[in-house]
Amino acid sequence: MTVVYGRVALIGLGLIASSMFWAMRRRGLADHVTGYARSEATRDTARRIGLCDTVCGSVAEAVEGADLVVLAVPVGAMAALAREMAPHLRPGCVVTDVGSVKRHVIDSVSPHLPQGVHFIPGHPLAGTEHSGPESGFATLFDNRWCLLVPVEGSDPVEVDRLAGFWRALGSNVDVMDADHHDLVLAVTSHCPHLIAYTMVGVADDLRRVTDSEVIKYSAAGFRDFTRIAASDPTMWRDVFLTNKDATLEILGRFTEELFALQRAIRTGDGEQLHAYFTHTRAIRRGILEAGQDTDAPDFGRVKVDR
Ligand code: NAP
Repeated sequence: MTVVYGRVALIGLGLIASSMFWAMRRRGLADHVTGYARSEATRDTARRIGLCDTVCGSVAEAVEGADLVVLAVPVGAMAALAREMAPHLRPGCVVTDVGSVKRHVIDSVSPHLPQGVHFIPGHPLAGTEHSGPESGFATLFDNRWCLLVPVEGSDPVEVDRLAGFWRALGSNVDVMDADHHDLVLAVTSHCPHLIAYTMVGVADDLRRVTDSEVIKYSAAGFRDFTRIAASDPTMWRDVFLTNKDATLEILGRFTEELFALQRAIRTGDGEQLHAYFTHTRAIRRGILEAGQDTDAPDFGRVKVDR
């Protein structure tokens, strides 16, 4: 593969940024990658494991001369970093992000970016419940989707280049409008996480009653919930604070469906339950056919060698 961006700056050195680095290195997509993390501990770890060509102690230093700058921090932290980096951005460079919410990122980051800088928000639909600089691996994005959400006036040539970069990282790429993105993700990711957090909380309450039985007899369904509920608390706090409308809308619908099923159970309406579960099983098969999961346990979440 050929170099897509000469200099890339990764702002934040967690799961997504480190996976991007290893995926870039796998294919030789950048000449030089700089990285910035706010804590000394993360910067030390990055240096120790060879994450980035240069690990910088300031955002200004990291973005100096960069052709592509990637904001890879929790959504709520992006605006402050954009403000800090703005005076140091090279005219003509591309700024993107990997945040799980798009409207809030656009509204809070855009005002800080100077004229002549291309802002093209993005969101790779790939992740694990692990976080930090040591959690990344080169194949994280393989055959996963990356959604690009260009803002008004985004240069189509630069959008194409960024799409090519994500394809070279292993992803399939689609372009989407910000509000639509936030609604789709509320259904496919944000609300399922909230439900997992809730279920684990309920089980924890129960555990106090039944001692350790919930853990001891933990079955596959519940174990999956606990894995999802182990995801980074800061990231998920920010997702719900910044995608409020869409998640509340979907949670409202979820509650209605839950009440309908609750009623079917109470009234012994087996026909309704069976029809519902038949329908949902077909949806699962569709996901398998689309290649977004396999029947193998822990697909896409097993830690892979860099
Ligand atoms: P992560 O592993 O938890 O790493 C977060 C990084 O951001 C760390 O380097 C951390 O620095 C830095 N950071 C946190 N708060 C900061 C602040 N206030 N100011 C400056 N730096 C800060 O996170 P991640 O999973 O890579 O997620 C990064 C972004 O990707 C988030 O916006 C998330 O929504 C999005 N995303 C995540 C997933 C997923 O499954 N994890 C999937 C798709 C998209 P220190 O280490 O120094 O604290």
